[in-house]
Amino acid sequence: MAPRYLKKPTASTSSAANTTSEKVTGIVSGVIDDIRARGDTAVREYSEKFDKWSPPSFRLSQADIDACMAKVSPQTIADIKQAQANVRKFAEVQRECIKDVEIEIQPGVFLGHKNNPISTAGAYIPGGRYPLLASAHMTILTAKVAGVPNVIACTPPIMGEIPNATVAAAHLAGADEIFILGGTQAVAAMAIGTETIKKVDFLAGPGNAFVAEAKRQLFGEIGIDLLAGPTEVLIVADNKANPFTVATDLLSQAEHGPDSPAILITTSEEVARKSMSYIDAILPNMQTGELAGKSWGDWGEVAVVDSMDEAYSLADEYCSEHVQIFTETPRDALVKMVNYGALFLGENTCVSYGDKCIGTNHVLPTRKAGRYTGGLWVGKYLKTQTYQEVRSEKASGELGRLCGRCARAENFEGHARSGDLRAQRYMGDNFEW
Ligand code: NAD
Repeated sequence: MAPRYLKKPTASTSSAANTTSEKVTGIVSGVIDDIRARGDTAVREYSEKFDKWSPPSFRLSQADIDACMAKVSPQTIADIKQAQANVRKFAEVQRECIKDVEIEIQPGVFLGHKNNPISTAGAYIPGGRYPLLASAHMTILTAKVAGVPNVIACTPPIMGEIPNATVAAAHLAGADEIFILGGTQAVAAMAIGTETIKKVDFLAGPGNAFVAEAKRQLFGEIGIDLLAGPTEVLIVADNKANPFTVATDLLSQAEHGPDSPAILITTSEEVARKSMSYIDAILPNMQTGELAGKSWGDWGEVAVVDSMDEAYSLADEYCSEHVQIFTETPRDALVKMVNYGALFLGENTCVSYGDKCIGTNHVLPTRKAGRYTGGLWVGKYLKTQTYQEVRSEKASGELGRLCGRCARAENFEGHARSGDLRAQRYMGDNFEW
């Protein structure tokens, strides 16, 4: 049976919540070209234009960092440290699972791979709307656990001020340099390199449409984690789910921005209707209710289905960034679903835990990218690089014969001769070139 929708998005497309407009594409490519041509001078002009921010130096000195740390409450510092301890521990366990390998594929022939860290990584920590200091744990700390020696962090000013807690989080996470710089100008400066900002090899971190578009345009010149667009949440609920919890958790993500989809798929029309009523009741009493209400109005969806199998199958089609499972047997989702950014199993957990402190990475694929990638993790900062060694002359001669035939099948005479040479030297083959 087709799902029955009690609420559909009212915004223009239901599949892509944040279609990058041609306007954003044009602005971003102009900024990138200009920073490529004029370096720091252009960076400063765009920072002034978009953020009204032009300090003597965008880079924080150790004294600046110490001053920021001193302005953050001891409780916040302790909380940052506790959240980072979780992120670090999980990343370390994931790192231990990534092994170097070496095998003898045939007598005398050894193949292996090594996992080498990227040399220089950029971390973008968003801050246009909220000081997303948790993104510092996710990008900087994860890079450090991977063994990246140089990590450069950029975060925008908030209303013309340095975001002290974000700087504290970046510093505690181990950033080697911290710049107060946002948006396209930060991404372009890190990707291209300027007189004062080191060029990075890889750039990670979430951000708004400008940040995501800049990463997209610069991909290739640098590596990127993924295009993390506006946050999405989807809840799969059965008839035992608590509608107040459903409403609270949907709104917890809708407040991210005006285009953050929040979706409920449930087998219970009663749960659906009660959840919607609670949302209407909560919104006027929420500090961020206007933003969350816009997102919910434009992008919120509620679908009622006939069975849990249908619920999982529909949720898999949506391929949301965050999927919460409010059912009697939430671990079923581990078997029934394969398309998502991250799963949050049962009502005792929630996306906010993942966003802020539980220890898994919150930089996750949006806009259905979960079909082909997971989120940011320690493995994204490692390059799995192969090597080979042929230790015996006999093995080299045998491979030389095989290689010669394979290469000639492709009309590669030069390749073939490299094989012929060894077949001649070690097997006594005779070639007339
Ligand atoms: P941001 O830091 O990404 O962007 C702020 C910058 O945007 C500013 O510094 C400014 O330079 C630039 N900017 C703003 N308006 C501009 C304009 N008109 N022209 C050119 N540049 C402009 O912060 P944000 O805006 O709060 O966005 C953060 C985003 O990150 C949200 O959409 C949130 O949902 C998303 N997010 C995603 C994930 C994920 O893993 N998918 C995680 C956390 C946050």
